[in-house]
Order: sequence, then structure tokens, then C-alpha cells
Amino acid sequence: MNHTKQADDSFFVNSIKPQKSGQIESTQSTNSENSENSENSENSENSENSAQNLGILSDPRPGGEERPWRLKKLKTLLLAASFERLGEVQLAERVRNCGTYLEFISDFVQKILRGANFCDCRLCPMCVWRRSLRLAYVLSSVMDEVERDQPYLVPLFLTLTIKNCPATVVGLSQALTVIFEGWNRFLKVKQVKSVTKGWFRSLELTYNREADTFHPHMHVVVYVDGLSYFDRCENNYKKTSEWVQLWGSACRLNYDPICDIRRIQNDSERRKDINEMAKYTVKDTDFIIANDLLLTDKLVLILNKVLRKRRLTAFGGVLKQVATKLKLLDKETKGDLIHVGDGMIREDIAVILRYFWHFGFGQYFKGEE
Ligand SMILES: [Zn+2]
Repeated sequence: MNHTKQADDSFFVNSIKPQKSGQIESTQSTNSENSENSENSENSENSENSAQNLGILSDPRPGGEERPWRLKKLKTLLLAASFERLGEVQLAERVRNCGTYLEFISDFVQKILRGANFCDCRLCPMCVWRRSLRLAYVLSSVMDEVERDQPYLVPLFLTLTIKNCPATVVGLSQALTVIFEGWNRFLKVKQVKSVTKGWFRSLELTYNREADTFHPHMHVVVYVDGLSYFDRCENNYKKTSEWVQLWGSACRLNYDPICDIRRIQNDSERRKDINEMAKYTVKDTDFIIANDLLLTDKLVLILNKVLRKRRLTAFGGVLKQVATKLKLLDKETKGDLIHVGDGMIREDIAVILRYFWHFGFGQYFKGEE
């Protein structure tokens, strides 16, 4: 397998896709979430068969939709090119070679990843995707265990925001200091501390291209004692306006920040909320902008500098205790991006499948078994 370095991004735009006839032909691909869908359209029975005949990776979810291995790998090359333009040569090399090797265990029905050479860069689209899957698995395991152990605890989902900040290193850096220091003070406020039995927080940033600003906000799960919190006589219950006031004063803001507080009503809402909590800190489409390399480089530079030493997700209280007990905290798992709770395969009937990224074809091909 020839893992040559790509000189530019042109192959991404004219990426190569296997056709139904089995021929290889050039097609257009764009850097948007839509291209994830266009990849999924490869999932017809014919194209799946011809892809398999060519040894091309097919890894559908139980519903049939392809997992976005190829799309994420192509995006790592765009990020690597940006790092290279910014003079971050080592980082560029690391990201370029991320996920060039994937090893699955398969029972012929499904594949489960069991080895890969991920780069673990904060902005890498491949690693960010794996990290969000891992976090969703960790968070739902921890929440399930907490609720099994202490069924009277009830999760509230909070979104805590501050105003948009300028898309500069200084602007974003200051905004994150406000939000993280605000969070630490928030936890110590008597009215918050007295009702919070455990918490999880994750930072999300969205980029507004028109205003050239970032919108930093925090997704938070707070566990309260359901028996006393919702009992009006106990005076623990807080309306949204009270949370807004507490959050605003903890962040020392001179305006009322926007906050959203919700109690989960059902299982599907819960799944949605957990995925929301565990999703990317920044979506790759927010900073890898295919038709604007200058803007891409500017955003990559800012995010790379500002996010480098920040703790983007954290557990506290009973959630931290349970995560520690289940050995699911990052420092114990060394940031495991391979095991994301995909289930089990019976090893006695399973085969090992190895796939290698081909830089020239822009595709994963099966290697020797
Ligand atoms: Zn990576």
C-alpha cells in the first residue's frame, strides 16, 4: 500500500469514488455535512457489492447507514494542509497519518473497531468524531449506573451561555476564561451547591461567519434530589430566571445570559440530550471551510492555540465517583478512541479485517487478513 503524502487538496475536490460498474471515476465532493449524506447514498445494494469486490471499506450502522470513515479521513487531510500552511509541520504530519490503519473484528454481520492509529489531536475531524462517540457511551453508562444506584436522583439538562466573542485568539481566550471561571464559582454558590449531587459539563463553540464571532456555551447535566428539588415546600426548586441570575452573577456579567433548563421527559429525548452533550466542541464544518483557505487557517490557528490547554469536558460529584468506579475517566482509559460501546462479537466465529487508507484513491482498501 502506497501511503504517499498529498501535495494539495485538489484530490479532495475531485475525489475518486467507485462506481456501480466497478470502474473508478472522478466525482465532485464538497466539504459540508451533505457530503456525509452523499457518501451514504453509496449504500445501495449494488454499490455495496461492487465496493466489497474492490475491497473498499463498508461499515454500516445497524440501520444501514454507512459510518463516515472516508469522509472524516478526507477531512483530516484538509486540516493537515492547513497546519502545514501555518508552519505546524509535525502536527500536520500527525493529522495526515491519523486513521490510515483500521482493524476490525467482524462476524460477517457487523464490524467492531479493535485497533487504529488515531492521532488524538484536539481538532482532528476523525478523532473528534471518535471522541464524541466515546463520550456519549461513557456519559450514558455513568448516568445509567447513577440512576440504578440512586433512583431518587433526577438529571436536569442546562445550557449556559455568554455573549458571542470576537473570533481572535484574545477574544476567544478571554471568553473561555469567563465561562470556566464562572463555572467554578457557580458550583460554589450556596443555592447551586445545596441542590447539585453530581454534574457533567462540556464546552461547545459555534462560529458565526457573518459576524466573525464565536458563540461559547456549556452543556451541563446536573443531578438533583428529585424528592426535595421538586417539592415546593423545600424551597429548592429554581425557575429558569433564577438559574439565569445565578449563572450571570457567577460569570460576573453585566447582562442576563441566555440559559435553558430542562428535565428529560422520555428515553428518546434522553438519547438526544446525551448526544447533544457529547458532541464535538467545534464541528469540523465550522472551521474547515473548503472554499476559503484563509478563513480556515485563521480559525485553525485560533482554535489550536486557545483549546490546547483547556479542559473541555469534566465530571463532578456522584458522576465523577461512578465514572471512576467504572474506570471510564480519560486518565484511566488514556483517551480511548477505539472502544465506543459498539457491543460484542463472538471471538470464536469472528475474523479480523484490516483496512489501509490509500492517499491516491482517497479510499480505504482491505489489506491482508
Ligand atoms: Zn486524529
